[in-house]
Amino acid sequence: MLAERAYLELYPEARLGEYSFSLEYSGKFSGYNANIRKKPGKIHFSLSRKWERIDEDIKIGIMQTLLNRLMKTKVTTRSIELYEIFLKKVHIAIPKVKTDAILEESYNYVNELYLNGIIEKPNLQWGSRSMRTLGRYDYGTDTITISTIFRNAEKTLLNYVMYHEVLHKKHKFLTKGARNFHHTKDFLKDEARFGDIEKINKDISRLVRRAGFNDLF
Ligand SMILES: [Zn+2]
Repeated sequence: MLAERAYLELYPEARLGEYSFSLEYSGKFSGYNANIRKKPGKIHFSLSRKWERIDEDIKIGIMQTLLNRLMKTKVTTRSIELYEIFLKKVHIAIPKVKTDAILEESYNYVNELYLNGIIEKPNLQWGSRSMRTLGRYDYGTDTITISTIFRNAEKTLLNYVMYHEVLHKKHKFLTKGARNFHHTKDFLKDEARFGDIEKINKDISRLVRRAGFNDLF
Protein backbone atom coordinates (compact mmCIF):
# COMPACT_ATOMS: atom_id res chain seq x y z
CA MET A 1 0.00 0.00 0.00
CA LEU A 2 1.20 3.46 -0.96
CA ALA A 3 1.23 5.11 2.48
CA GLU A 4 3.08 2.19 4.02
CA ARG A 5 5.60 2.22 1.19
CA ALA A 6 6.22 5.92 1.77
CA TYR A 7 6.87 5.23 5.45
CA LEU A 8 9.18 2.24 4.95
CA GLU A 9 11.22 3.96 2.25
CA LEU A 10 11.68 6.94 4.54
CA TYR A 11 12.49 4.88 7.64
CA PRO A 12 13.98 1.56 6.45
CA GLU A 13 14.84 0.65 10.04
CA ALA A 14 11.27 1.07 11.24
CA ARG A 15 9.56 -1.79 13.01
CA LEU A 16 6.91 -3.36 10.80
CA GLY A 17 3.42 -3.16 12.17
CA GLU A 18 4.14 -0.24 14.50
CA TYR A 19 1.51 1.76 12.65
CA SER A 20 -1.38 0.97 10.40
CA PHE A 21 -1.73 3.38 7.49
CA SER A 22 -4.67 4.87 5.68
CA LEU A 23 -4.97 7.25 2.77
CA GLU A 24 -8.04 9.16 1.65
CA TYR A 25 -8.68 11.63 -1.18
CA SER A 26 -10.71 14.42 0.29
CA GLY A 27 -12.81 17.17 -1.25
CA LYS A 28 -12.14 19.48 1.68
CA PHE A 29 -8.81 20.60 0.21
CA SER A 30 -8.30 22.85 -2.75
CA GLY A 31 -5.38 22.64 -5.17
CA TYR A 32 -2.70 20.17 -4.18
CA ASN A 33 -3.01 20.46 -0.41
CA ALA A 34 -2.81 17.58 2.02
CA ASN A 35 -2.41 16.74 5.68
CA ILE A 36 -1.39 13.97 8.04
CA ARG A 37 -2.77 12.83 11.40
CA LYS A 38 -1.37 10.45 13.96
CA LYS A 39 -3.33 8.52 16.53
CA PRO A 40 -1.93 5.72 18.69
CA GLY A 41 -0.84 3.02 16.26
CA LYS A 42 -2.34 4.82 13.28
CA ILE A 43 -1.19 7.27 10.63
CA HIS A 44 -3.76 8.80 8.33
CA PHE A 45 -3.08 10.82 5.18
CA SER A 46 -5.64 13.09 3.52
CA LEU A 47 -4.78 14.33 0.06
CA SER A 48 -6.86 16.59 -2.13
CA ARG A 49 -8.81 14.90 -4.95
CA LYS A 50 -6.40 16.33 -7.50
CA TRP A 51 -3.75 14.00 -6.13
CA GLU A 52 -5.63 10.94 -7.41
CA ARG A 53 -4.29 11.47 -10.89
CA ILE A 54 -0.70 12.23 -9.93
CA ASP A 55 2.22 9.85 -10.41
CA GLU A 56 2.81 7.45 -7.49
CA ASP A 57 6.40 8.53 -6.88
CA ILE A 58 5.34 12.15 -6.45
CA LYS A 59 2.53 11.06 -4.13
CA ILE A 60 5.05 9.14 -2.04
CA GLY A 61 7.10 12.34 -1.98
CA ILE A 62 4.33 14.45 -0.47
CA MET A 63 3.54 11.73 2.08
CA GLN A 64 7.19 11.54 3.08
CA THR A 65 7.34 15.33 3.38
CA LEU A 66 4.33 15.18 5.73
CA LEU A 67 5.96 12.34 7.70
CA ASN A 68 9.17 14.34 8.12
CA ARG A 69 7.10 17.20 9.51
CA LEU A 70 5.10 14.95 11.83
CA MET A 71 8.06 12.94 13.11
CA LYS A 72 10.40 15.97 13.17
CA THR A 73 12.88 14.13 10.96
CA LYS A 74 14.83 15.43 7.98
CA VAL A 75 15.28 12.42 5.74
CA THR A 76 15.62 13.07 2.01
CA THR A 77 14.54 10.69 -0.72
CA ARG A 78 14.28 10.71 -4.50
CA SER A 79 10.48 10.88 -4.15
CA ILE A 80 10.73 14.02 -1.99
CA GLU A 81 12.96 15.59 -4.65
CA LEU A 82 10.41 14.70 -7.31
CA TYR A 83 7.61 16.17 -5.22
CA GLU A 84 9.53 19.42 -4.79
CA ILE A 85 10.12 19.72 -8.53
CA PHE A 86 6.40 19.11 -9.01
CA LEU A 87 5.52 21.75 -6.40
CA LYS A 88 7.63 24.36 -8.17
CA LYS A 89 5.83 23.77 -11.47
CA VAL A 90 2.29 22.99 -10.42
CA HIS A 91 1.14 26.64 -10.46
CA ILE A 92 0.95 26.37 -14.25
CA ALA A 93 -1.86 23.80 -13.97
CA ILE A 94 -3.91 25.57 -11.31
CA PRO A 95 -7.04 27.47 -12.36
CA LYS A 96 -7.06 31.13 -11.32
CA VAL A 97 -10.48 31.68 -9.83
CA LYS A 98 -9.94 33.94 -6.82
CA THR A 99 -9.27 37.61 -7.12
CA ASP A 100 -10.11 40.97 -5.58
CA ALA A 101 -9.92 44.45 -7.08
CA ILE A 102 -7.60 45.96 -4.45
CA LEU A 103 -5.26 42.97 -4.43
CA GLU A 104 -5.19 42.77 -8.21
CA GLU A 105 -4.25 46.43 -8.49
CA SER A 106 -1.40 45.88 -6.05
CA TYR A 107 -0.24 42.70 -7.81
CA ASN A 108 -0.28 44.45 -11.22
CA TYR A 109 1.65 47.38 -9.80
CA VAL A 110 4.53 45.35 -8.33
CA ASN A 111 4.61 42.87 -11.20
CA GLU A 112 4.97 45.64 -13.79
CA LEU A 113 7.27 47.91 -11.82
CA TYR A 114 9.73 45.38 -10.39
CA LEU A 115 9.30 42.18 -12.38
CA ASN A 116 8.69 43.37 -15.96
CA GLY A 117 5.29 41.72 -15.80
CA ILE A 118 6.78 38.22 -16.02
CA ILE A 119 5.01 36.60 -13.08
CA GLU A 120 1.72 35.02 -14.11
CA LYS A 121 -1.14 36.20 -11.87
CA PRO A 122 -1.80 33.78 -9.02
CA ASN A 123 -5.05 33.44 -7.10
CA LEU A 124 -5.40 36.45 -4.81
CA GLN A 125 -7.36 36.56 -1.57
CA TRP A 126 -7.63 38.32 1.77
CA GLY A 127 -6.83 36.29 4.87
CA SER A 128 -9.33 35.24 7.51
CA ARG A 129 -9.54 37.25 10.72
CA SER A 130 -7.48 34.66 12.54
CA MET A 131 -4.62 34.77 10.06
CA ARG A 132 -1.37 35.15 11.96
CA THR A 133 0.93 36.28 9.20
CA LEU A 134 1.08 39.39 7.04
CA GLY A 135 0.92 37.37 3.88
CA ARG A 136 1.69 33.98 2.42
CA TYR A 137 2.17 32.24 -0.89
CA ASP A 138 0.82 28.70 -1.18
CA TYR A 139 2.50 26.62 -3.90
CA GLY A 140 -0.15 23.91 -3.89
CA THR A 141 -2.99 26.29 -4.83
CA ASP A 142 -0.94 29.09 -6.45
CA THR A 143 -2.52 31.55 -4.02
CA ILE A 144 -1.31 34.73 -2.38
CA THR A 145 -3.19 35.49 0.83
CA ILE A 146 -2.81 38.93 2.41
CA SER A 147 -3.83 39.95 5.93
CA THR A 148 -6.95 42.15 6.05
CA ILE A 149 -5.04 44.74 8.11
CA PHE A 150 -3.75 46.02 4.77
CA ARG A 151 -7.21 46.56 3.29
CA ASN A 152 -7.36 50.20 4.35
CA ALA A 153 -3.68 50.75 4.96
CA GLU A 154 -1.34 53.00 3.05
CA LYS A 155 -0.83 51.45 -0.40
CA THR A 156 2.95 51.26 -0.03
CA LEU A 157 2.57 48.79 2.85
CA LEU A 158 0.19 46.55 0.90
CA ASN A 159 2.43 46.74 -2.16
CA TYR A 160 5.45 45.77 -0.11
CA VAL A 161 3.78 42.67 1.35
CA MET A 162 2.38 41.79 -2.09
CA TYR A 163 5.84 42.17 -3.64
CA HIS A 164 7.30 39.87 -0.97
CA GLU A 165 4.72 37.17 -1.74
CA VAL A 166 5.05 37.53 -5.53
CA LEU A 167 8.81 37.04 -5.04
CA HIS A 168 8.03 33.72 -3.36
CA LYS A 169 6.26 32.67 -6.53
CA LYS A 170 9.21 33.87 -8.60
CA HIS A 171 12.04 32.34 -6.54
CA LYS A 172 10.28 29.23 -5.17
CA PHE A 173 12.73 27.59 -2.76
CA LEU A 174 16.20 26.15 -2.62
CA THR A 175 16.75 22.72 -1.16
CA LYS A 176 19.95 21.93 0.72
CA GLY A 177 20.05 18.53 2.33
CA ALA A 178 16.70 18.12 4.02
CA ARG A 179 16.00 21.82 4.41
CA ASN A 180 14.20 24.24 2.16
CA PHE A 181 15.29 27.86 2.04
CA HIS A 182 12.71 30.43 1.00
CA HIS A 183 14.41 33.75 1.78
CA THR A 184 17.56 33.14 -0.22
CA LYS A 185 20.23 35.74 -1.00
CA ASP A 186 18.73 36.27 -4.46
CA PHE A 187 15.29 36.70 -2.92
CA LEU A 188 16.53 39.34 -0.47
CA LYS A 189 18.45 41.14 -3.22
CA ASP A 190 15.27 41.35 -5.29
CA GLU A 191 13.25 42.44 -2.28
CA ALA A 192 15.65 45.27 -1.47
CA ARG A 193 14.81 46.86 -4.83
CA PHE A 194 11.52 47.96 -3.28
CA GLY A 195 13.53 50.52 -1.26
CA ASP A 196 12.94 52.04 2.19
CA ILE A 197 12.33 48.61 3.69
CA GLU A 198 13.37 49.66 7.19
CA LYS A 199 10.80 52.43 7.35
CA ILE A 200 8.12 50.22 5.82
CA ASN A 201 8.76 47.51 8.40
CA LYS A 202 8.39 50.09 11.18
CA ASP A 203 5.13 51.31 9.68
CA ILE A 204 3.89 47.73 9.42
CA SER A 205 4.74 47.05 13.09
CA ARG A 206 2.77 50.16 14.03
CA LEU A 207 -0.17 49.02 11.90
CA VAL A 208 -0.08 45.57 13.48
CA ARG A 209 -0.07 47.08 17.00
CA ARG A 210 -2.88 49.46 16.13
CA ALA A 211 -4.96 46.56 14.82
CA GLY A 212 -4.65 45.11 18.31
CA PHE A 213 -2.68 42.14 17.08
CA ASN A 214 0.08 42.55 19.68
CA ASP A 215 0.38 38.83 20.23
CA LEU A 216 0.29 37.91 16.60
CA PHE A 217 2.79 38.09 13.78
ZN1 LIG B 1 8.55 35.24 3.04
